[in-house]
Amino acid sequence: MASIFTRIVNGEIPSYKVAEDDRFYAFLDINPVQPGHTLVIPKQEVDYIFDLDNDTYAGLTLFAKKVAEAIKAAVTCRKVGMAVIGLEVPHAHIHLVPMQAEKDMDFARHAELPASEMTAIAEAIAGQFAKL
Ligand code: AMP
Repeated sequence: MASIFTRIVNGEIPSYKVAEDDRFYAFLDINPVQPGHTLVIPKQEVDYIFDLDNDTYAGLTLFAKKVAEAIKAAVTCRKVGMAVIGLEVPHAHIHLVPMQAEKDMDFARHAELPASEMTAIAEAIAGQFAKL
């Protein structure tokens, strides 16, 4: 069965998309640890990030770098943190989290933001991404 992230890429499940190209897709985490928390995935469905072929792995990290630049421009933060967990969804993904402090990378502390706020954040990041 297709992963939930493959279903997002295929448009079967909605997402707050911030960026996409032919191989990669970025969208807001539905339960963000900070506003602007973004997931970056390969469209190819592979569970464990370190099982990706080298070209896809390198492409994913370069795409995430560009998304991080867009997040930094769109969301007030000192830096954008990067993490890989992957215990919940079996489709490789990188977490990008705008940070003011180290505690902002606490993945045990998820929140839920109103849809209007999620939409506004996604549009702001997408707008910055389009300028890069
Ligand atoms: P993990 O696999 O442990 O890295 O965590 C998966 C992440 O995906 C969690 O932060 C979830 O909040 C997030 N997530 C799960 N389902 C969705 C979805 N439909 N849209 C956006 N984010 C999701």
